[in-house]
Amino acid sequence: MGFDSVSASTKPTQIPTQEEDPSSPCASLLSFNTAPHHKNTATSVIFSSLILVACIALSAASAFALLLFSSSSAPRTGASFASLQTTSRPLTKLNRPVVLLISSDGFRFGYQFKTHTPNIHRLIANGTEAETGLIPVFPSLTFPNHYSIVTGLYPAYHGIINNHFDDPKTGEVFTMASHEPKWWLGEPLWETVANHGLKAAAYFWAGSEVHKGSWTCPQDFCMVYNGSVPFDERVDTVLSYFDLPTSEIPVFMALYFEDPDHQGHKVGPDDPEINEAVAGIDRMIGKLIDGLEKRGVFEDVTIIMVGDHGMVGTCDKKLIFLDDLAPWIDIPADWVQSYTPLLAIRPPPGFAPSDVVAKMNEGLQSGKVQNGKNLKMYLKEKLPSRLHYAASARIPPIIGMVDEGYTVEQKGTKRQECGGAHGYDNALFSMRTIFIGHGPQFARGRKVPSFENVQIYNLVTSILNIQGAPNNGSVSFPSAVLLPDPHKF
Ligand SMILES: [Zn+2]
Repeated sequence: MGFDSVSASTKPTQIPTQEEDPSSPCASLLSFNTAPHHKNTATSVIFSSLILVACIALSAASAFALLLFSSSSAPRTGASFASLQTTSRPLTKLNRPVVLLISSDGFRFGYQFKTHTPNIHRLIANGTEAETGLIPVFPSLTFPNHYSIVTGLYPAYHGIINNHFDDPKTGEVFTMASHEPKWWLGEPLWETVANHGLKAAAYFWAGSEVHKGSWTCPQDFCMVYNGSVPFDERVDTVLSYFDLPTSEIPVFMALYFEDPDHQGHKVGPDDPEINEAVAGIDRMIGKLIDGLEKRGVFEDVTIIMVGDHGMVGTCDKKLIFLDDLAPWIDIPADWVQSYTPLLAIRPPPGFAPSDVVAKMNEGLQSGKVQNGKNLKMYLKEKLPSRLHYAASARIPPIIGMVDEGYTVEQKGTKRQECGGAHGYDNALFSMRTIFIGHGPQFARGRKVPSFENVQIYNLVTSILNIQGAPNNGSVSFPSAVLLPDPHKF
């Protein structure tokens, strides 16, 4: 299936506008008022006027109440006053918008409350936050999600359908170290920016080392992945870009931290070790803010802080073994592209996928397979459409949906299975991560409903005021989240 069909094949999602409230008493009063059964016109006019006046008074009162509420809950810095903001704030030092996109891997929504995170909370209080977290794409894995964030595409369309997979046409294997452009479809933000003749920078982001379009992963502005580079060094490098002459400062910068995913896998999301990792990320955010303030650009720079997915504990012996299905069907290991939490199976020619799915589900539902009812097999075309996980030949024909916290293995082993995992259904709350936007176009202290990370691409191109590539995000999303910019040229 061609990449060009992206826009036509998926429906953009809309977030509800918060201003409209169908349950408003005035809305119902006014609709009563316009009903046709008033016979006495004069009385009707007086009655209407009274209701109208009452409604105006009520609206003013609620607006005032809102003002009071907002001003008490949103800390004020500088001259801003949260609820009075109607347009974006002008730049004071930079000559054009700069977006710094930061990812903290595996930062489950809620981690920001687990320990003291003053710097993250400073961004939240003075910026716009997805109130109940950012929704990852399915599968809620690192590479598919990081590349969705920067392309606005679901994995079926950007091609990175798993952290590792086979190309069924060529037999070639994709791993997280594959940088050939043929794997990486779509147009990531650094490429969009470069195609506009502007500068971009990436300090470790899935796909950033791949040469695409005008993007050549330029030295000093695009780092070759090395997980042992200390976080401090990454932050120092990003800050050093702001010491360049104004016209040479990259307008888009991506910055990646492996924590707290690393700890989450090891000990699960509820261990104190997570708190330390989260505090470490908060220190890096503090260091960034300090550095930007020292350079006088903190209020000019747009910081978007996200994670790629959440994390859930995988203890309690929630195991499912494929070998237990032997009475119904043999699933040899070489049919299995990935086990858990994304169970992906490509049987060889001669085995009808629908037959394999039917036999597996029969076994899983029989009550004779341990935890069998916590795994359901699908032909990829029959997966719920909200997962958008079918339209690519790279996606194996058979996908298993594993219940939260369960693990699929080939056969039983004696080792203890305790830790954390992600990759599950993106509708699970535990898979959510954070979204915080701070900068001239983000209202201070604003909360927006949760949204999928494919919306971020359009958000960034809108802030940068450049034309983006077609994608799965909604074109109206930026105007629902950003303050209108009267300075746009
Ligand atoms: Zn991750």
